[in-house]
Amino acid sequence: ADLYQPERLNSRGWDLANRTDLNEYVAERAPFAEKLWRSSAITVRPVTSGTAHKIFNPAIKDSQVGEVIEADEKQAGEAIEDARIWDAPVVERAAVLRRAADLYEQHHGEIFALLAREAGKTQFDTIAELREAVDFLRYYAKEAEKHPEGRPRGIISCISPWNFPLAIFTGQVAAALAAGNGVLAKPADQTPLIAALATNLLHEAGVPLAALQLLPGAGATVGAAISGDARINGVCFTGSTATAQTINRNIAENGQADSLLIAETGGLNCMIVDSTALPEQSVRDIITSAFQSAGQRCSALRVLYLQEDVAEPFLNMLYGAMDATEMGNPWWLSTDIGPVIDQAAHDKISGHIAAAEKEGRLLKQLDCPDDGYFVGPAVIKVDNINDLDEEIFGPVLHVATFKSGGLDQVIADINGRGYGLTFGLQTRIERRIDKLTSAMKVGNIYVNRNQVGAVVGSQPFGGEGLSGTGPKAGGPHYLPRFFATSRPTMPV
Ligand code: GLU
Repeated sequence: ADLYQPERLNSRGWDLANRTDLNEYVAERAPFAEKLWRSSAITVRPVTSGTAHKIFNPAIKDSQVGEVIEADEKQAGEAIEDARIWDAPVVERAAVLRRAADLYEQHHGEIFALLAREAGKTQFDTIAELREAVDFLRYYAKEAEKHPEGRPRGIISCISPWNFPLAIFTGQVAAALAAGNGVLAKPADQTPLIAALATNLLHEAGVPLAALQLLPGAGATVGAAISGDARINGVCFTGSTATAQTINRNIAENGQADSLLIAETGGLNCMIVDSTALPEQSVRDIITSAFQSAGQRCSALRVLYLQEDVAEPFLNMLYGAMDATEMGNPWWLSTDIGPVIDQAAHDKISGHIAAAEKEGRLLKQLDCPDDGYFVGPAVIKVDNINDLDEEIFGPVLHVATFKSGGLDQVIADINGRGYGLTFGLQTRIERRIDKLTSAMKVGNIYVNRNQVGAVVGSQPFGGEGLSGTGPKAGGPHYLPRFFATSRPTMPV
């Protein structure tokens, strides 16, 4: 099995702070973050009563990270009432967002600790996530300055996911604010503390309290209240396709024809590896695409299509590379793969793997730590993408094979599923690259590299079909959508 040692994702051989207990790290080193541990509901009228929701470390089950007092429908209504656009010149807004970027960087210690503790992020992922968040702030500040004539739409609800609790939260909020809108931000249930830390830094940088209110709470109450209210001028959402469809209905029912919806949802992302592909490169890119972040990225690889002729030696190499990865406490520098987010995610992913095992389709699974919500990365045999009912949001790679000459059917199957987020291709045939880059109906195509980790400004990110509405985040078409559309002045 040990045919191949992958390039290490993290440096090895030493542990930060002598494996200091994560729970003590912030308390000792970051009093600012400590303050956030308790009430994190930040609104114009601070929420002081309501349901207290405890947040636990996904890597150490009984270790409480903090507590958040959730907002309810009534408080969401009050926040809508209090919300105001950010009535300042664009140069001032841009300067404040750049100041926020600087503050994020200065607070990197607390941010890394909290991303690890609340979201189970590895050190590698925490660094990438902070950089992405900072890039969003600076990028949208610059983009806004290109549109001095732009007028805000009004009040925008930003509903963000737990898998990028800082970067996606910040990207949505920064774009809406850069355009001068007021924002109601609802973070994911699992990660309100990171959102609270980010909100504090944005306020400290100079974003007015009434232009940015944080509303931690449940999707069914707070999420529904802030997306289905006629006073809201737009919703920016990242999460499941089903929730995006519900929000779409809410917006339609509240009768605001010109309201904005930007939704970024899931996918059943594929990679095709043909017999001309470089095996070492492909294996490394598959490991990264399928298992980094424990597979909890919308962009992650779910179905690998291998050309039959090379499948067996190729899979042996892949298994060798999997054996060399390390799962464990995300705070340790040696860890490549951390936990999944919570019990529900753990049970769903494990159930999927167990069902495959029962059917004799489980090709490989790594062991994992007992404590915490760890799932050992798994490889499952499938005939094609249609064997999957839905996206499994975890470290599970499905593998199908195709025969030489069978590529057109593979393309038709993938496109036929209706998702369209990322696609990877490993080949050395130039004509094939040309053909597939135009044939695949997806937002982001990556050739001869991994298919995760889009970079703000150079790789705008977003899908089509069931994977999202566009425009792509981190690209030039995103920010202008947050401006009011000009209405026709002549009767039509
Ligand atoms: N932008 C991320 C990437 O390129 C994925 C975002 C998501 O998972 O929603 O990997």
